[in-house]
Amino acid sequence: MSDTIICLDSLTKSYGEVEAVRDLSFEIRRGEIFGFLGANGAGKTTTMRMLCGFVKPTAGGATINGLDVWRQRRIARAKFGYMAQKFSLYPDLTVLENLRFFSGAYRVRPNEMPKRIERLLRQMDLEEKRDVPAGSLSGGMRQLLALGCALVHEPPLLFLDEPTSGLDPVHRQQMWDLLYDLGNSGITIFVTTHYMDEAERCTEVGFLHTGRLLAKASPRRLKETFKARLLELDIKPVMAALVRLRETPGILGVSLRSGSLRLYAPDAERLLDHWKGNWPFPELTLQDWRWAEPDMEDVFTAYSQGYTEMLKPSERS
Ligand code: ATP
Repeated sequence: MSDTIICLDSLTKSYGEVEAVRDLSFEIRRGEIFGFLGANGAGKTTTMRMLCGFVKPTAGGATINGLDVWRQRRIARAKFGYMAQKFSLYPDLTVLENLRFFSGAYRVRPNEMPKRIERLLRQMDLEEKRDVPAGSLSGGMRQLLALGCALVHEPPLLFLDEPTSGLDPVHRQQMWDLLYDLGNSGITIFVTTHYMDEAERCTEVGFLHTGRLLAKASPRRLKETFKARLLELDIKPVMAALVRLRETPGILGVSLRSGSLRLYAPDAERLLDHWKGNWPFPELTLQDWRWAEPDMEDVFTAYSQGYTEMLKPSERS
């Protein structure tokens, strides 16, 4: 069996003038937890919906397990589970009835169905809610039920479109614990997210920007692509400093992190040397400074804002 489960080959989708997905070519290996990141409107959902055979590509194509995602979509559909961004369950049906409905739709054998549903109820921690209508579950429980419904046919591949959107930190953690369990059991996961801490949890991450893939690598490798050092400053008053530094030559961007200011600058060491000798902002007080290790938020900012001077050229796509 090939190591590649999903293969995109110049996958493209236009809606009239809007080029939602542009010429995407990459592969995803079996067993990965692949995080697909990008700003609103970057093209993540459109890509996922093409891979699931719900939307016809304008050009190019993709395969799942060697099956063409559009021409062979009916056969390919049995090979994956899909959890949509919006509530895709039947709100008037109970938890149990939803699971039964999706089992039937995915043609789970009737003699297999009860034990599989019981296992999913246990796994999703929904045993006590089995007779509750899906519409009256909390947001977190609905997401867990939607995940359970996407798993009823025991697919080797899962597509999850922002599965933790709107969840509190406890339910986000619960969802990720489950995704890890699924990953450990050998299921490949393709997940879109806006949360950078979730990107850290993926084995591989792809950054999409206006329909194009900017980078794809493991979180560790992406962080290693920084060649510039990140300087963090404690300055008072902080909001005035944020505005002032953003318009300072040699600084590409500034972000506020737990009350400190993180600078995106190609040569922060030179700036710091200069400031140590001659602090140029009399209205601002520099209290402290330190070097920071890049995290996924920094990586995403650098790639999406085009701070290429801060990145190693060989690692850019
Ligand atoms: P979000 O994070 O907000 O869900 P996304 O990265 O998933 O965004 P898409 O929903 O794929 O982005 O949208 C990509 C682009 O394609 C957007 O400009 C969007 O307006 C456009 N688009 C998506 N679906 C359609 C459609 N059915 N008709 C017209 N334009 C569409």
